[in-house]
Amino acid sequence: MTRRYLIVGPPGVGKGTQADLIATEFGIPHVSTGAMLREHVARGTELGIKAKSTMDAGNLVPDDLVVAMLAERIAMDDARDGFILDGFPRNLAQANALDDLLAGGLDLVIALSVSDEEVLRRITGRRSCANGHVYHVTDNPPKVAGICDVDGFELFQRSDDTDEVVTNRLAVYRASTAPLLDYYARIVADVDGLGTVEQVRSRVFEVIGS
Ligand code: AMP
Repeated sequence: MTRRYLIVGPPGVGKGTQADLIATEFGIPHVSTGAMLREHVARGTELGIKAKSTMDAGNLVPDDLVVAMLAERIAMDDARDGFILDGFPRNLAQANALDDLLAGGLDLVIALSVSDEEVLRRITGRRSCANGHVYHVTDNPPKVAGICDVDGFELFQRSDDTDEVVTNRLAVYRASTAPLLDYYARIVADVDGLGTVEQVRSRVFEVIGS
């Protein structure tokens, strides 16, 4: 049995948080193209340099670059029996590319949703450390303000988590990513993303099954 999952939804809906929980529960890798791209930017690689301004504007990095990066990741040994994709595919061209890479396709698509107002509230309060541990100033604050509980690193706001960029990211989501819900209609499970991490977690695990 494979566990090839995708978690999809607007920015700030909680994809990364829930994907981490799924990855831990089933011992499968959490594959976030956004996190991988941010790492390239931080390391100053050729890909990072190419992607940075597009990411800062909240637009999509060109498909060929992201598909190549993703293909390499899911070909790794730890992804043989499954993975939880977060942030990929982002449009129909990427979904087609993924179909070409995967014999048998995905097993389940978890579609998380919240209102646009909630997206803005969550994203503008989001803070993370250099290792990618994520907090929210009121919903999930660190023990010491501004400091990561796990590694003591300083917390910062993602450069694309400002009001203006989030508004564009929502528009990009609606235009390019939301059509994937039709594309995957046969295997989509809708999950209400409003509530605590624990409440959403139990809804997510209910649709995954045992
Ligand atoms: P995320 O962390 O998923 O919100 O991604 C942050 C940013 O990385 C996005 O706004 C895009 O600029 C870029 N990005 C992440 N995943 C993709 C993808 N699959 N295709 C194109 N761009 C992506």
